[in-house]
Amino acid sequence: LRQKVFHSLQDALPTATEAGKLLLSRGVTTESGEQDIRQGKTNGGPLVSDQHFYESRVLDKYLTTSVSPITLRQLIFVGRNLNEERLIKSANYVRSEIATRLAHRIRDLQTLPFIVGANSHFQQVYDLYWSAFQLTHKFPRIKSVCDNDGFCRLLQTMLGEHLVVIPQLALGISECIDFLPPAHIERFMNVMLRSRISRRVLAEQHLALSNDFRHIRPDSQNAFPLDRGRQSIGTVFERLKAADVVHKCSRLVTQLTRDNYGEDGLYALRDLKKEMPTIRLEGHLDTSFTYIPEHIEFIIYELLKNAVRATMSKHQCSKTTRASPPDIVTTICSSPEDVIFRISDQGGGINTATLESLWKFANPNKPFDRFTTVTKLAGRLGEEDRECAPSHDPYGTSGLGLPLSKVYAEYWGGNLKLYSMDGYGTDAYVRIPKLGNVAENVVGREMIVN
Ligand code: ADP
Ligand code: MG
Repeated sequence: LRQKVFHSLQDALPTATEAGKLLLSRGVTTESGEQDIRQGKTNGGPLVSDQHFYESRVLDKYLTTSVSPITLRQLIFVGRNLNEERLIKSANYVRSEIATRLAHRIRDLQTLPFIVGANSHFQQVYDLYWSAFQLTHKFPRIKSVCDNDGFCRLLQTMLGEHLVVIPQLALGISECIDFLPPAHIERFMNVMLRSRISRRVLAEQHLALSNDFRHIRPDSQNAFPLDRGRQSIGTVFERLKAADVVHKCSRLVTQLTRDNYGEDGLYALRDLKKEMPTIRLEGHLDTSFTYIPEHIEFIIYELLKNAVRATMSKHQCSKTTRASPPDIVTTICSSPEDVIFRISDQGGGINTATLESLWKFANPNKPFDRFTTVTKLAGRLGEEDRECAPSHDPYGTSGLGLPLSKVYAEYWGGNLKLYSMDGYGTDAYVRIPKLGNVAENVVGREMIVN
């Protein structure tokens, strides 16, 4: 019965914005009106406060503006030839781009069906985005390094406050899975996540450059070469070593495994001591490419975790069985335009039922209860796995590792594919354009599939 009521309400009040208008036109404050409507479904604050509704007009200006996608090369160019004038130009670009990109996502949230938008998790994201939008667009035009310092403080605060966005979106989706068509959910999550990556890239790059500028501030107005002897320009590595990425991620996964199954590990104490497979690396080991390390590390770490977990559960080897599980082989290939990573395991492959939902954000068979994967997007690669004492699966149970990795792989024009031989093992392929000249895969205004 409750579902029927929700569906009829959904038909009657198709979008959050319209619901807001309707309630206001009836002279009902959104808060009380909404309480009537939501009847125990959500526990958050008002979805469309009257203040938000009227101020929504400010959005319109930004909604008519398209986003201007950038490439990694452009980020490097600005950073390498940094001077005061360029830093300030970058600040104003970041300011207007972040406001525009936020505005488009705020509109997406407003056009969700009312019953979905009223969910407390989506409301939290909405409120965060709204407040970030207000602060960014109201920030006066940046004219000096001193103005820029204030702008950097704002960016830093926003980056911190928005760490909760992915868990909130994921929880929101898991609670609203019955109220949105599956295709809609996938597109919504893709667009939200791509946009979030894009805003963080802009903010983090600008913060890094501003920090560099503060430390090596030139006396003259001339450009100064920031990259002399440096590995990165801000957050972007011009020659990131593919082998270093694999080594770092292998180290983290090995550590995670030791913490759980090693001598004093959590699971070892429960007599679940297991032998970990060796992660081998071969191929074009001197390959380097232009990239943001965190983006590729996220993907490789997730793939290695999956491979190790599958291998260890198929080959139950411990010291007493005197057998070692088969190696996981990581191969790097450098083609003229791309770098390709292949991760091969003999962990038994993936069955057809799992394959079908592999890339989906909304998976009714797998409501996740922990956020090991999603918190990593906050930029704390590896840490959280050690932080939370895992209850049953140290390698993740969110089911979001692969869909999120795909969003990352596609962000700068690459892709991620899995080939499984059910009963034997899996090969994962990540292809990344090497030269950093592909524009970011960010969406502007068009989004919701109705
Ligand atoms: P999670 O690891 O949180 O379960 P993922 O998106 O990383 O989520 O993986 C989804 C599911 O796909 C896993 O639970 C597992 O069943 C299957 N899977 C992924 N990679 C492999 C692999 N290399 N071998 C076997 N199964 C895999
Ligand atoms: Mg996983």
